[in-house]
Amino acid sequence: MSYTKASTLTKAGNHYAGDQLWSAFAPMTPADQRNRAQQALREIARIAVATDTDEVVAAAVAWIETGEAGTGLPFRSSWWRERNNLGNIGVTGDPTQNDLSQSWDTPADGAMGLMAHLVAYAYGNGWRKAWDTDALGLPWLYDRRFDLVLHELGGRAFRTIGDLNRRWAVDSDDDYGGKLAKRANALVAAMTPVTTPSTGPEPVEQEPSMATPVFGRVPHPLYQNRIVTSSRAWDDLGPRTIRAAVWHRMHGTLWGTDSYFRGAAVTKALTDYGVGVAATDGAQQAGALLRWNDPNGRRAPWASGPVNNPTGDAVPFLDRYGVNGINRDAVSIEISGNGDTALDAKARATVVALTAYYADQYGVPWDAFPAVPGEDRSFVMWHGEIYDGKRNSCPGAVVMAATDGMIDEIKVILKRYQAASAPVDPADPVYAKPQPPAKGDSIVNGRIFLAHAHTYTTKAAVVPRIYADPGSDPTGPRIPKGTQVTTSHVVSDVGESADLTAVLVDGSRIPIRDVLV
Ligand SMILES: [Zn+2]
Repeated sequence: MSYTKASTLTKAGNHYAGDQLWSAFAPMTPADQRNRAQQALREIARIAVATDTDEVVAAAVAWIETGEAGTGLPFRSSWWRERNNLGNIGVTGDPTQNDLSQSWDTPADGAMGLMAHLVAYAYGNGWRKAWDTDALGLPWLYDRRFDLVLHELGGRAFRTIGDLNRRWAVDSDDDYGGKLAKRANALVAAMTPVTTPSTGPEPVEQEPSMATPVFGRVPHPLYQNRIVTSSRAWDDLGPRTIRAAVWHRMHGTLWGTDSYFRGAAVTKALTDYGVGVAATDGAQQAGALLRWNDPNGRRAPWASGPVNNPTGDAVPFLDRYGVNGINRDAVSIEISGNGDTALDAKARATVVALTAYYADQYGVPWDAFPAVPGEDRSFVMWHGEIYDGKRNSCPGAVVMAATDGMIDEIKVILKRYQAASAPVDPADPVYAKPQPPAKGDSIVNGRIFLAHAHTYTTKAAVVPRIYADPGSDPTGPRIPKGTQVTTSHVVSDVGESADLTAVLVDGSRIPIRDVLV
């Protein structure tokens, strides 16, 4: 059988295995992407079997979308290399939207995002037929645009490859479906013959024993993606692998630092993350997490260097990874306030959760943390251990005194996810805390909030979100069409569209234009 524009996105059997897909891609894939591409293709094949979707079509999408301009050769785009985005999901050409597009932590996560996106197209509102949330988790946690696809396309199921034209992508020849079919046929022709049944039973989940930690299940805490694209305060020292965390204090406020990195510091300094603290940023910002730079990308920010007279935990790290390792291989976490500013419970919890996430990603087991097995060093460093000019000021007295307790809290998180004998239930999303603005008209972070208490009826189903950005995290379940909602404020959105966003009484955001009558 060969693929045409009329071929369906779904299929019930005759699946190819991930390594067969890989055999077709192997000659086209650059050396530094081979492992990553193979991981992604295996995951695509696994999810295709689970969701009755066509893995060859999904792989053809990945081929086109990760293709290099000019040659079209796969696994070369920056969105793939830097964000594990296999489908250019959320990449629209608008620089702001591009910047806000989703980033996945691993190639396999990116493949889950691709397959969730494909399921939204292929099944529409009937997606639950195909996507078992008990087995696979919630699809919108992998693809933040999952709801958007259903919403914008009216929940319709699109049957064929040709239906993706002008929907998944706008093609220069207006023939996205034809191009997908051509690539799908090329993949099938290039694949190694089937020597073992590829549609055999799914691999049996290995029940890990209590003694064997399982990595990769600690969640990344909710964050707002605020990548400082204009920054030049970084070096390309090769791909980053986060092997340690460096704790800092901002000696400023959360949003002041956000402005600083975009302004005066654009050639001077940049860090990966910032954490809000009640004492400097107000109770509503306590624990808020901004991501200014991608720890999985290639920009090693000017965050934790220079190295001068290192001491303590910095010494064995430097022995092993060198001076370049400091900014490249350590994630920098800036905590708002100065060295003496109190660390409230929410801010502390965010630093703990984020550090736990990266320790787990690096494979540090809970019972060893903060020690990294086999490396004779700590996963956590203080900035002052690296640079004697910041010896006592960064992160300073409060965080230094809290460090032992925070390490205990990180161990608890690691143990909860690593030692569980069954996957930790992903069915309960952690909803963002609403952040209601102050009463009356106010200006927050340069944006005007107009007090506007009014009850509306939703004219379509809508997901309430923590920010106006449709890619931001939900604050609760979908609000059905025809529901009465009450606003406290109306705020003009940032960016070119300057759309109006309704702030509901619980602090959730929904777009005025699309939803309210
Ligand atoms: Zn610092």
